[in-house]
Amino acid sequence: MIDSSFLERLRQEAVEVSTDVPMKNHTTFRIGGCADAMCEVKDVPALRNVLALCKAYAVPYFVLGMGSNLLVSDKGVEGLVIVLGGEFNQVARMEDNIVRAGAGCTLAKLCVFAKNMSLSGLEFAWGIPGSVGGAVYMNAGAYDGEMKQVVTTVDYMDAEGLVKRSYWDDLELSYRHSRFTDTDNIILSATFQLQPREQDLIQERMNELMERRKAKQPINHPSAGSVFKRPEGAYAAALIEECGLKGYSCGGAQVSPKHSGFIVNDNNATAEDVRQLIAHIQQVVKEKKGIDLCCEVKFIGRP
Ligand SMILES: Cc1cc2nc3c(=O)[nH]c(=O)nc-3n(C[C@H](O)[C@H](O)[C@H](O)COP(=O)(O)OP(=O)(O)OC[C@H]3O[C@@H](n4cnc5c(N)ncnc54)[C@H](O)[C@@H]3O)c2cc1C
Repeated sequence: MIDSSFLERLRQEAVEVSTDVPMKNHTTFRIGGCADAMCEVKDVPALRNVLALCKAYAVPYFVLGMGSNLLVSDKGVEGLVIVLGGEFNQVARMEDNIVRAGAGCTLAKLCVFAKNMSLSGLEFAWGIPGSVGGAVYMNAGAYDGEMKQVVTTVDYMDAEGLVKRSYWDDLELSYRHSRFTDTDNIILSATFQLQPREQDLIQERMNELMERRKAKQPINHPSAGSVFKRPEGAYAAALIEECGLKGYSCGGAQVSPKHSGFIVNDNNATAEDVRQLIAHIQQVVKEKKGIDLCCEVKFIGRP
């Protein structure tokens, strides 16, 4: 239960807040119990006020992007889930082929904007169903591209409400990791250094990569993308398939028959179904191949 005076104070700050919000409506897995509360924040001062209230009332907070890399507990999420809207959805061209995008902006919007400006470098991100904030946080990547190749600066707010800027060298971008991983910092916006290129060529590359996704990935089924990180010298999907687990199910969760690196919510899966399936895969792959599979998907919510 969330403190009602906390909610009242949020509303006094003109922040729209809802309670008992089903997280399954906010994740690509379509799984998850209710968040105690969820609010959409539209600008930096409002975000600062929200963080100050969370601190004053000792309410934990979680920043949600597009929910495309999350497994949310069936028991829901304690505290406040913050969604970045308003000015955080903006994208603009700066000088020297630099594009600046708010953290709440979808990668799809950013990719289309860059293409329309005849700026190349973000084609790899076309088809990754995340936000700019989530993609920087995860150093999202595909088809030999990753955020690390294009991000130049990131503005973020720390838990005290201070706005700070990080430059490329201190972003600590590595495979599915950044300096923001497992911190309380909130990414506000990022800039991307891009290169001029003919629009048609950019579009062609985007189309080609989307076709490859459609051919290989179960993009019409609810999932959170690749469940496991790529282990050193191997591919998680190949290991899972070699262990005979393609199509294997726990409750409503299934190892995708199309791509063994994905778990799909095949039939009203619970987070517990997915957890059990993940544990089973990890155990079998360890026994048969001697390899530990680590999760790329983040588990959030009440244990
Ligand atoms: C069909 C499918 C295909 C996918 N393909 C790929 C792929 O090719 N490559 C790839 O890398 N990933 C892929 N993913 C996974 C996912 O899309 C990426 O990890 C994406 O970057 C997550 O972004 P998000 O906005 O959805 O973040 P969320 O899932 O909402 O959150 C992920 C983490 O980021 C944090 N976060 C989000 N926004 C902020 C912010 N503003 N400030 C601080 N922290 C923040 C959250 O708190 C959370 O810890 C795929 C997923 C699906 C469903």
